[in-house]
Amino acid sequence: MAPRTRKQFGQHWLRSDRALQQIVDAAGLSGSDRVLEIGPGTGILTRRLLPLAAAVVAVEIDRDLCKLLAKQLGETPNFLLLQGDVLELDLDMLLANFPQFQQPNKVVANIPYNITGPILERLLGSIAAPNPRPFDSIVLLLQKEVGDRLCASPSSKAYGALSVRVQYLAQCDRICDVPASAFQPPPKVDSVVVRLTPRPFIPAAADPRQLDQLVKLGFSTRRKMLRNTLQPAVDRDILVPLLESLKLNPQARAEDLSVESWVALSNALRGDGVTG
Ligand code: SAH
Repeated sequence: MAPRTRKQFGQHWLRSDRALQQIVDAAGLSGSDRVLEIGPGTGILTRRLLPLAAAVVAVEIDRDLCKLLAKQLGETPNFLLLQGDVLELDLDMLLANFPQFQQPNKVVANIPYNITGPILERLLGSIAAPNPRPFDSIVLLLQKEVGDRLCASPSSKAYGALSVRVQYLAQCDRICDVPASAFQPPPKVDSVVVRLTPRPFIPAAADPRQLDQLVKLGFSTRRKMLRNTLQPAVDRDILVPLLESLKLNPQARAEDLSVESWVALSNALRGDGVTG
């Protein structure tokens, strides 16, 4: 029997063998990988990770679950359980005394959906401040709607500021769908497995903060043309010829620009007196 669930911690126990296997496969683990798992819950995914990786560090907020996990997996030599909030705890400091577990290079997790955004930022950083020690890969089971946004192409319905922000920092691959029925209790939404592979974006933004601000402004009103939404940062008399020189439609909206185009626009605006 799975233990009772706490709603405030977004607890939904994955019970589908198939989904568990797809998550593990997507991580492509080797015997030298050190894995960070967020929210091990009852340890169903953890048990599959442990035989495949050099080490698994799991961060779980729920004290009762931690007790249970410690009882069941506490003796496993390559397992380290940390009780706390993944958004708060200082992993580097906590792992300082555990050389075997330091600097995990991969993340594999069925995360609590209510804190997806903050978890993504914690793992990837932001355009202006990318994680200085990027993970080799991050495999997450998340809400389908968010997965769609992460992997969206320009001009599609799901493409938005989150798509640009995350795709600037990582390659995003959609691995598979996971129906709500794969969980106990089933969440209200369907899910997807996504793999994020952090890499430097080429060409890079010369001024990442400016790019961040332009994206924010541009998507603040999706329906409007950039020459209107970006007006507070750059006058349309400058912007329109610039868009044309970049072979972009002067009537383009934020959702029409690929990540490359966002970067090109930001870089072209450097030195044009843009507030940033
Ligand atoms: N991986 C498990 C459980 C997923 S549910 C499974 O696949 O069955 C999400 C898990 O994240 C729960 O165990 C929940 O207690 C934990 N959690 C929620 N908020 C957290 C936080 N801020 N930090 C760490 N863990 C958290």
